[in-house]
Amino acid sequence: MTDCIFCRIATGDIPAQIILEADSWVAFHDLNAQAPQHALVIPRRHIATLDAATEDDRALLGELMLAGAAVARHLGCAETGYRTVMNCNADGGQSVYHIHLHVLGGRRLAWPPG
Ligand code: 5GP
Ligand code: ZN
Repeated sequence: MTDCIFCRIATGDIPAQIILEADSWVAFHDLNAQAPQHALVIPRRHIATLDAATEDDRALLGELMLAGAAVARHLGCAETGYRTVMNCNADGGQSVYHIHLHVLGGRRLAWPPG
């Protein structure tokens, strides 16, 4: 989708600080970091929300989770700990409608989230 900012990051049309990438996903630093380490992992394929994902996306969603773990190890926060979050729709706090896994680490994170 040409009007989707994360599709455009995935194609390199819009620059981002890429951390790691693979055939099906790209990980990059969040522009507005909420923790010392804050990465986003996106599928190259456009899926608007987790609610819009289907059985066909089962493997891809698994890849995103494993990618999140690889990104945390790459950023050096795997042992101290980190959080993965996928916000869905308005009450979940989703602002970009192309699914993305947040990987947050480098500080003690509060629970429950606000
Ligand atoms: P959401 O609120 O949808 O769960 O998360 C969207 C995230 O994308 C936010 O943390 C926001 O800072 C980040 N973001 C939005 N636009 C851009 C962008 O153009 N580049 C990067 N690197 N991050 C972005
Ligand atoms: Zn998209």
